[in-house]
Amino acid sequence: MTPGRPVPPPLGKPLVVSEETADPAPSAPAAAQGPPTLAAAYGATSAVSGLVPLTVARRAPKEDDVEIEIDFCGLCHSDVHATRGEWGAQSYPLVPGHEIVGRVRSVGSAVDDFAPGDLVGVGCLVDSCRECDSCLEGLEQYCERGNVGTYGVKDARNGDSITQGGYSTSVVVDRRFVLRVPDGLDPAAAAPLLCAGITTYSPLRYFDVEEGDVVGVVGLGGLGHMAVKIAKAMGAHVVVFTTSEAKFEAAIELGADDVILSKDPEAMEGANRSIDVIIDTVAAPHDLNPYFRTLRLNGALFQLGLPPTDMPPVSPGALIRRRLSYAGSLIGGIAETQEMLDFCAEHGVVSDVEVVTARQLNEAYDRMVAGDVKYRFVLDTKTLQPASEKADV
Ligand SMILES: [Zn+2]
Ligand SMILES: [Zn+2]
Repeated sequence: MTPGRPVPPPLGKPLVVSEETADPAPSAPAAAQGPPTLAAAYGATSAVSGLVPLTVARRAPKEDDVEIEIDFCGLCHSDVHATRGEWGAQSYPLVPGHEIVGRVRSVGSAVDDFAPGDLVGVGCLVDSCRECDSCLEGLEQYCERGNVGTYGVKDARNGDSITQGGYSTSVVVDRRFVLRVPDGLDPAAAAPLLCAGITTYSPLRYFDVEEGDVVGVVGLGGLGHMAVKIAKAMGAHVVVFTTSEAKFEAAIELGADDVILSKDPEAMEGANRSIDVIIDTVAAPHDLNPYFRTLRLNGALFQLGLPPTDMPPVSPGALIRRRLSYAGSLIGGIAETQEMLDFCAEHGVVSDVEVVTARQLNEAYDRMVAGDVKYRFVLDTKTLQPASEKADV
Protein backbone atom coordinates (compact mmCIF):
# COMPACT_ATOMS: atom_id res chain seq x y z
CA MET A 1 0.00 0.00 0.00
CA THR A 2 1.00 3.64 -0.29
CA PRO A 3 1.85 5.05 3.14
CA GLY A 4 -0.01 8.18 4.13
CA ARG A 5 -2.89 7.62 1.76
CA PRO A 6 -6.12 8.71 3.45
CA VAL A 7 -8.31 6.34 1.50
CA PRO A 8 -7.38 3.58 -0.91
CA PRO A 9 -7.29 4.75 -4.54
CA PRO A 10 -9.35 3.15 -7.27
CA LEU A 11 -7.70 0.54 -9.43
CA GLY A 12 -4.95 2.10 -11.49
CA LYS A 13 -5.92 0.30 -14.65
CA PRO A 14 -9.04 1.52 -16.46
CA LEU A 15 -11.56 -1.26 -16.56
CA VAL A 16 -13.89 -1.14 -19.53
CA VAL A 17 -16.12 -4.07 -20.26
CA SER A 18 -17.97 -2.94 -23.30
CA GLU A 19 -16.45 -1.13 -26.21
CA GLU A 20 -19.84 0.10 -27.36
CA THR A 21 -22.61 1.48 -25.25
CA ALA A 22 -25.18 1.57 -28.02
CA ASP A 23 -26.58 -1.82 -27.14
CA PRO A 24 -30.31 -2.26 -27.42
CA ALA A 25 -32.07 -0.75 -24.44
CA PRO A 26 -33.21 -3.37 -21.92
CA SER A 27 -36.78 -2.84 -23.07
CA ALA A 28 -36.00 -3.53 -26.74
CA PRO A 29 -37.47 -6.77 -28.06
CA ALA A 30 -35.05 -9.67 -28.23
CA ALA A 31 -33.88 -10.67 -31.69
CA ALA A 32 -35.70 -13.56 -33.31
CA GLN A 33 -34.15 -16.82 -32.21
CA GLY A 34 -34.59 -20.56 -32.35
CA PRO A 35 -36.12 -22.88 -29.80
CA PRO A 36 -34.55 -23.15 -26.35
CA THR A 37 -32.32 -26.04 -25.33
CA LEU A 38 -33.44 -28.14 -22.38
CA ALA A 39 -30.76 -28.59 -19.76
CA ALA A 40 -30.69 -30.87 -16.72
CA ALA A 41 -30.43 -28.99 -13.46
CA TYR A 42 -30.89 -29.15 -9.71
CA GLY A 43 -32.79 -26.49 -7.86
CA ALA A 44 -35.41 -25.59 -5.29
CA THR A 45 -39.16 -25.52 -5.95
CA SER A 46 -39.88 -23.78 -2.64
CA ALA A 47 -38.03 -22.52 0.42
CA VAL A 48 -38.45 -25.92 2.08
CA SER A 49 -38.16 -28.30 -0.89
CA GLY A 50 -34.42 -28.79 -0.70
CA LEU A 51 -32.74 -29.31 -4.07
CA VAL A 52 -34.50 -31.58 -6.57
CA PRO A 53 -33.92 -32.54 -10.22
CA LEU A 54 -35.31 -29.93 -12.62
CA THR A 55 -35.12 -29.19 -16.32
CA VAL A 56 -34.36 -25.64 -17.36
CA ALA A 57 -34.92 -24.04 -20.77
CA ARG A 58 -31.85 -22.18 -22.04
CA ARG A 59 -32.45 -19.59 -24.76
CA ALA A 60 -31.05 -20.19 -28.23
CA PRO A 61 -27.87 -18.11 -28.45
CA LYS A 62 -28.42 -14.59 -29.77
CA GLU A 63 -25.69 -12.89 -31.82
CA ASP A 64 -23.66 -11.83 -28.75
CA ASP A 65 -24.28 -14.99 -26.74
CA VAL A 66 -21.97 -17.78 -25.70
CA GLU A 67 -23.50 -21.20 -25.07
CA ILE A 68 -21.53 -23.03 -22.39
CA GLU A 69 -21.50 -26.71 -21.54
CA ILE A 70 -20.98 -26.59 -17.78
CA ASP A 71 -18.44 -28.97 -16.21
CA PHE A 72 -18.34 -27.72 -12.62
CA CYS A 73 -20.19 -25.27 -10.41
CA GLY A 74 -19.07 -24.23 -6.94
CA LEU A 75 -21.50 -24.20 -4.00
CA CYS A 76 -21.58 -20.77 -2.38
CA HIS A 77 -23.23 -19.95 0.94
CA SER A 78 -25.38 -17.45 -0.97
CA ASP A 79 -26.93 -20.41 -2.83
CA VAL A 80 -28.16 -21.83 0.48
CA HIS A 81 -29.63 -18.49 1.59
CA ALA A 82 -31.33 -17.92 -1.77
CA THR A 83 -32.83 -21.37 -2.26
CA ARG A 84 -34.09 -21.44 1.32
CA GLY A 85 -35.68 -18.00 0.93
CA GLU A 86 -33.55 -16.57 3.73
CA TRP A 87 -32.86 -13.35 1.82
CA GLY A 88 -36.49 -12.46 1.19
CA ALA A 89 -39.07 -13.45 -1.38
CA GLN A 90 -37.70 -15.66 -4.12
CA SER A 91 -39.06 -16.81 -7.45
CA TYR A 92 -39.32 -20.62 -7.68
CA PRO A 93 -38.29 -22.94 -9.21
CA LEU A 94 -34.79 -21.61 -8.64
CA VAL A 95 -31.58 -23.15 -9.95
CA PRO A 96 -28.66 -21.67 -7.96
CA GLY A 97 -24.95 -21.56 -8.81
CA HIS A 98 -22.64 -18.68 -9.74
CA GLU A 99 -19.21 -20.32 -9.80
CA ILE A 100 -19.45 -21.84 -13.26
CA VAL A 101 -16.66 -23.42 -15.30
CA GLY A 102 -17.21 -25.19 -18.61
CA ARG A 103 -16.45 -25.35 -22.31
CA VAL A 104 -17.93 -23.19 -25.04
CA ARG A 105 -20.43 -25.25 -27.07
CA SER A 106 -21.45 -22.60 -29.59
CA VAL A 107 -21.28 -18.84 -30.10
CA GLY A 108 -23.55 -16.23 -31.68
CA SER A 109 -22.70 -14.63 -35.03
CA ALA A 110 -21.15 -11.49 -33.47
CA VAL A 111 -18.86 -13.34 -31.05
CA ASP A 112 -15.25 -13.42 -32.15
CA ASP A 113 -13.48 -13.55 -28.78
CA PHE A 114 -14.67 -17.03 -27.84
CA ALA A 115 -14.77 -20.24 -29.87
CA PRO A 116 -16.22 -23.72 -29.31
CA GLY A 117 -14.00 -25.74 -26.97
CA ASP A 118 -12.64 -22.73 -25.01
CA LEU A 119 -12.49 -23.20 -21.23
CA VAL A 120 -14.58 -20.38 -19.76
CA GLY A 121 -16.19 -19.24 -16.55
CA VAL A 122 -19.25 -17.31 -15.42
CA GLY A 123 -19.40 -15.71 -12.01
CA CYS A 124 -22.09 -13.83 -10.12
CA LEU A 125 -23.11 -11.49 -12.96
CA VAL A 126 -24.67 -12.17 -16.37
CA ASP A 127 -25.59 -8.60 -17.30
CA SER A 128 -25.91 -5.00 -16.13
CA CYS A 129 -27.23 -1.77 -17.67
CA ARG A 130 -23.87 -1.24 -19.45
CA GLU A 131 -24.46 2.53 -19.44
CA CYS A 132 -24.23 3.96 -15.92
CA ASP A 133 -21.01 5.39 -14.49
CA SER A 134 -20.27 2.17 -12.58
CA CYS A 135 -20.74 0.00 -15.65
CA LEU A 136 -18.64 2.32 -17.82
CA GLU A 137 -15.86 2.03 -15.24
CA GLY A 138 -16.00 -1.75 -15.42
CA LEU A 139 -17.64 -1.96 -12.01
CA GLU A 140 -20.76 -3.80 -13.17
CA GLN A 141 -21.28 -5.26 -9.71
CA TYR A 142 -22.16 -1.75 -8.54
CA CYS A 143 -24.45 -1.02 -11.51
CA GLU A 144 -26.62 1.92 -10.50
CA ARG A 145 -29.68 0.30 -12.02
CA GLY A 146 -28.99 -3.05 -10.38
CA ASN A 147 -26.78 -5.76 -11.83
CA VAL A 148 -28.30 -8.92 -13.28
CA GLY A 149 -27.24 -11.78 -11.04
CA THR A 150 -26.58 -15.23 -12.45
CA TYR A 151 -29.69 -16.67 -10.82
CA GLY A 152 -32.99 -15.54 -9.35
CA VAL A 153 -33.05 -12.12 -11.04
CA LYS A 154 -35.18 -10.58 -13.81
CA ASP A 155 -33.24 -10.43 -17.07
CA ALA A 156 -34.56 -7.34 -18.90
CA ARG A 157 -32.70 -8.06 -22.15
CA ASN A 158 -34.28 -11.50 -22.29
CA GLY A 159 -37.95 -10.85 -21.84
CA ASP A 160 -37.78 -10.39 -18.08
CA SER A 161 -37.18 -14.11 -17.65
CA ILE A 162 -35.69 -15.10 -14.28
CA THR A 163 -32.03 -16.05 -14.53
CA GLN A 164 -31.17 -19.65 -13.60
CA GLY A 165 -27.73 -20.61 -12.36
CA GLY A 166 -25.03 -23.16 -12.83
CA TYR A 167 -26.24 -26.33 -11.10
CA SER A 168 -27.05 -27.30 -14.65
CA THR A 169 -25.53 -28.89 -17.73
CA SER A 170 -25.54 -25.70 -19.82
CA VAL A 171 -26.05 -21.95 -19.73
CA VAL A 172 -26.24 -19.14 -22.29
CA VAL A 173 -24.55 -15.85 -21.38
CA ASP A 174 -23.71 -12.63 -23.23
CA ARG A 175 -20.02 -12.63 -24.25
CA ARG A 176 -19.36 -9.49 -22.17
CA PHE A 177 -19.97 -11.49 -19.00
CA VAL A 178 -18.01 -14.61 -19.93
CA LEU A 179 -14.50 -15.07 -18.46
CA ARG A 180 -11.59 -16.92 -19.94
CA VAL A 181 -10.22 -19.64 -17.62
CA PRO A 182 -6.46 -19.77 -18.27
CA ASP A 183 -4.66 -23.02 -19.06
CA GLY A 184 -3.08 -24.56 -16.02
CA LEU A 185 -5.97 -23.94 -13.65
CA ASP A 186 -7.76 -27.11 -12.59
CA PRO A 187 -11.36 -26.54 -13.76
CA ALA A 188 -13.05 -27.85 -10.60
CA ALA A 189 -10.70 -26.01 -8.23
CA ALA A 190 -10.95 -22.83 -10.33
CA ALA A 191 -14.75 -22.66 -10.11
CA PRO A 192 -14.84 -21.03 -6.64
CA LEU A 193 -12.52 -18.28 -7.89
CA LEU A 194 -15.55 -16.87 -9.73
CA CYS A 195 -17.20 -15.80 -6.45
CA ALA A 196 -15.04 -16.53 -3.40
CA GLY A 197 -11.86 -15.65 -5.27
CA ILE A 198 -12.94 -12.34 -6.77
CA THR A 199 -14.76 -11.29 -3.58
CA THR A 200 -11.47 -11.38 -1.69
CA TYR A 201 -9.18 -10.32 -4.56
CA SER A 202 -11.09 -7.10 -5.27
CA PRO A 203 -10.63 -5.38 -1.88
CA LEU A 204 -6.99 -6.53 -1.70
CA ARG A 205 -6.39 -4.94 -5.11
CA TYR A 206 -8.38 -1.84 -4.20
CA PHE A 207 -6.14 -1.39 -1.17
CA ASP A 208 -3.14 -1.97 -3.44
CA VAL A 209 -1.70 -4.74 -1.28
CA GLU A 210 1.90 -5.46 -2.17
CA GLU A 211 5.03 -7.22 -0.98
CA GLY A 212 5.58 -6.72 2.73
CA ASP A 213 2.11 -5.44 3.64
CA VAL A 214 0.42 -7.16 6.56
CA VAL A 215 -3.04 -8.53 5.75
CA GLY A 216 -5.42 -9.80 8.42
CA VAL A 217 -8.10 -12.33 7.51
CA VAL A 218 -11.08 -12.82 9.82
CA GLY A 219 -12.78 -16.20 9.45
CA LEU A 220 -11.43 -19.26 7.64
CA GLY A 221 -14.29 -20.51 5.45
CA GLY A 222 -14.74 -20.41 1.68
CA LEU A 223 -13.93 -16.69 1.45
CA GLY A 224 -11.29 -16.67 4.18
CA HIS A 225 -9.21 -19.46 2.71
CA MET A 226 -9.15 -17.65 -0.65
CA ALA A 227 -8.16 -14.39 1.07
CA VAL A 228 -5.19 -16.14 2.68
CA LYS A 229 -4.00 -17.67 -0.58
CA ILE A 230 -4.44 -14.54 -2.68
CA ALA A 231 -2.87 -12.20 -0.12
CA LYS A 232 0.12 -14.56 0.16
CA ALA A 233 0.44 -14.62 -3.63
CA MET A 234 0.51 -10.79 -3.55
CA GLY A 235 3.53 -11.02 -1.24
CA ALA A 236 1.77 -10.05 1.97
CA HIS A 237 2.44 -11.28 5.49
CA VAL A 238 -0.88 -12.92 6.41
CA VAL A 239 -2.42 -13.07 9.86
CA VAL A 240 -5.56 -15.17 10.37
CA PHE A 241 -8.01 -14.33 13.14
CA THR A 242 -10.12 -17.25 14.28
CA THR A 243 -12.38 -18.04 17.21
CA SER A 244 -11.24 -21.66 17.19
CA GLU A 245 -7.84 -23.01 18.19
CA ALA A 246 -8.72 -26.07 16.12
CA LYS A 247 -8.22 -23.97 12.98
CA PHE A 248 -4.66 -22.86 13.77
CA GLU A 249 -3.04 -25.73 11.92
CA ALA A 250 -5.32 -25.38 8.91
CA ALA A 251 -4.53 -21.67 8.67
CA ILE A 252 -0.80 -22.35 8.64
CA GLU A 253 -1.27 -25.12 6.06
CA LEU A 254 -3.03 -22.60 3.81
CA GLY A 255 -0.04 -20.30 4.06
CA ALA A 256 -0.85 -17.96 6.95
CA ASP A 257 2.22 -16.58 8.73
CA ASP A 258 0.46 -16.00 12.06
CA VAL A 259 -2.79 -17.02 13.69
CA ILE A 260 -4.51 -15.11 16.47
CA LEU A 261 -7.27 -16.44 18.69
CA SER A 262 -9.72 -13.55 18.40
CA LYS A 263 -11.55 -14.37 21.63
CA ASP A 264 -8.32 -14.02 23.62
CA PRO A 265 -8.09 -10.31 24.61
CA GLU A 266 -4.37 -10.61 25.39
CA ALA A 267 -3.59 -12.06 21.99
CA MET A 268 -5.62 -9.30 20.34
CA GLU A 269 -3.82 -6.66 22.40
CA GLY A 270 -0.51 -8.19 21.35
CA ALA A 271 -1.45 -7.49 17.72
CA ASN A 272 -2.02 -3.77 18.42
CA ARG A 273 -1.00 -1.56 15.44
CA SER A 274 0.42 -4.46 13.43
CA ILE A 275 -1.86 -4.82 10.40
CA ASP A 276 -2.39 -2.74 7.24
CA VAL A 277 -5.68 -4.13 5.99
CA ILE A 278 -8.21 -6.62 7.32
CA ILE A 279 -10.47 -8.76 5.15
CA ASP A 280 -13.41 -9.73 7.35
CA THR A 281 -15.34 -12.68 5.90
CA VAL A 282 -17.58 -13.47 8.87
CA ALA A 283 -21.29 -13.20 8.10
CA ALA A 284 -22.49 -13.45 11.71
CA PRO A 285 -22.78 -10.23 13.78
CA HIS A 286 -19.55 -9.59 15.68
CA ASP A 287 -17.72 -6.76 17.44
CA LEU A 288 -15.26 -5.05 15.10
CA ASN A 289 -13.69 -2.73 17.65
CA PRO A 290 -10.99 -5.19 18.80
CA TYR A 291 -9.97 -5.58 15.14
CA PHE A 292 -9.67 -1.83 14.60
CA ARG A 293 -7.13 -1.76 17.42
CA THR A 294 -4.92 -4.17 15.46
CA LEU A 295 -4.75 -1.77 12.48
CA ARG A 296 -1.92 0.65 11.80
CA LEU A 297 -2.31 4.29 10.86
CA ASN A 298 -4.32 4.58 7.58
CA GLY A 299 -5.40 0.96 7.85
CA ALA A 300 -8.69 -0.36 6.55
CA LEU A 301 -11.16 -3.09 7.40
CA PHE A 302 -13.21 -4.50 4.51
CA GLN A 303 -16.36 -6.30 5.54
CA LEU A 304 -17.40 -8.97 3.02
CA GLY A 305 -19.88 -11.07 5.00
CA LEU A 306 -23.45 -9.78 5.17
CA PRO A 307 -24.93 -10.47 8.61
CA PRO A 308 -28.68 -11.04 8.86
CA THR A 309 -28.96 -8.44 11.64
CA ASP A 310 -27.13 -5.27 12.70
CA MET A 311 -23.64 -5.50 14.15
CA PRO A 312 -22.45 -4.15 17.52
CA PRO A 313 -21.71 -0.40 17.13
CA VAL A 314 -18.35 0.72 15.80
CA SER A 315 -16.53 3.15 18.07
CA PRO A 316 -15.75 6.31 16.00
CA GLY A 317 -12.76 7.03 18.23
CA ALA A 318 -10.95 3.96 16.99
CA LEU A 319 -11.37 5.13 13.40
CA ILE A 320 -10.54 8.78 14.05
CA ARG A 321 -7.37 8.29 16.05
CA ARG A 322 -5.68 6.23 13.31
CA ARG A 323 -7.43 7.58 10.22
CA LEU A 324 -8.87 4.13 9.60
CA SER A 325 -11.34 3.21 6.86
CA TYR A 326 -14.27 0.88 7.47
CA ALA A 327 -15.38 -0.36 4.08
CA GLY A 328 -17.49 -2.95 2.32
CA SER A 329 -16.88 -4.67 -0.97
CA LEU A 330 -19.02 -6.72 -3.37
CA ILE A 331 -17.49 -9.35 -5.71
CA GLY A 332 -15.70 -7.60 -8.62
CA GLY A 333 -16.34 -6.32 -12.14
CA ILE A 334 -15.83 -8.46 -15.23
CA ALA A 335 -12.44 -7.04 -16.22
CA GLU A 336 -11.16 -7.37 -12.67
CA THR A 337 -12.48 -10.93 -12.46
CA GLN A 338 -10.48 -11.76 -15.59
CA GLU A 339 -7.44 -10.07 -14.03
CA MET A 340 -7.95 -12.23 -10.91
CA LEU A 341 -8.16 -15.45 -12.95
CA ASP A 342 -4.95 -14.55 -14.79
CA PHE A 343 -3.28 -13.66 -11.47
CA CYS A 344 -4.34 -17.00 -9.95
CA ALA A 345 -3.04 -18.91 -12.98
CA GLU A 346 0.29 -17.07 -12.77
CA HIS A 347 0.63 -17.81 -9.05
CA GLY A 348 -0.91 -21.30 -9.00
CA VAL A 349 -3.77 -20.24 -6.73
CA VAL A 350 -6.97 -22.30 -6.69
CA SER A 351 -9.57 -23.20 -4.10
CA ASP A 352 -9.36 -26.31 -1.91
CA VAL A 353 -12.42 -28.22 -3.07
CA GLU A 354 -14.47 -31.33 -2.41
CA VAL A 355 -16.26 -32.41 -5.59
CA VAL A 356 -19.81 -33.69 -5.00
CA THR A 357 -22.47 -35.38 -7.11
CA ALA A 358 -25.96 -34.02 -7.69
CA ARG A 359 -27.38 -36.48 -5.18
CA GLN A 360 -25.02 -35.17 -2.51
CA LEU A 361 -26.12 -31.53 -2.90
CA ASN A 362 -28.59 -31.43 -0.01
CA GLU A 363 -26.13 -33.07 2.34
CA ALA A 364 -23.46 -30.65 1.15
CA TYR A 365 -25.75 -27.72 1.99
CA ASP A 366 -26.24 -29.03 5.52
CA ARG A 367 -22.50 -29.51 5.88
CA MET A 368 -21.86 -25.96 4.64
CA VAL A 369 -24.24 -24.55 7.22
CA ALA A 370 -22.42 -26.61 9.87
CA GLY A 371 -19.04 -25.32 8.64
CA ASP A 372 -18.03 -28.86 7.74
CA VAL A 373 -16.15 -28.27 4.47
CA LYS A 374 -12.53 -27.61 3.55
CA TYR A 375 -13.18 -25.19 1.93
CA ARG A 376 -15.58 -25.29 -0.97
CA PHE A 377 -17.92 -27.90 -2.44
CA VAL A 378 -18.05 -28.10 -6.22
CA LEU A 379 -20.78 -29.88 -8.16
CA ASP A 380 -19.69 -32.21 -10.95
CA THR A 381 -22.47 -31.51 -13.46
CA LYS A 382 -21.86 -34.80 -15.26
CA THR A 383 -23.72 -36.41 -12.35
CA LEU A 384 -26.96 -34.54 -13.14
CA GLN A 385 -29.85 -36.65 -14.41
CA PRO A 386 -30.80 -36.41 -18.11
CA ALA A 387 -33.06 -33.45 -18.95
CA SER A 388 -36.76 -34.27 -19.21
CA GLU A 389 -38.75 -33.51 -22.36
CA LYS A 390 -40.48 -30.54 -20.80
CA ALA A 391 -38.92 -27.60 -19.00
CA ASP A 392 -39.81 -26.92 -15.36
CA VAL A 393 -38.46 -23.40 -15.62
ZN1 LIG B 1 -21.18 -16.61 -4.11
ZN1 LIG C 1 -25.04 0.04 -14.88
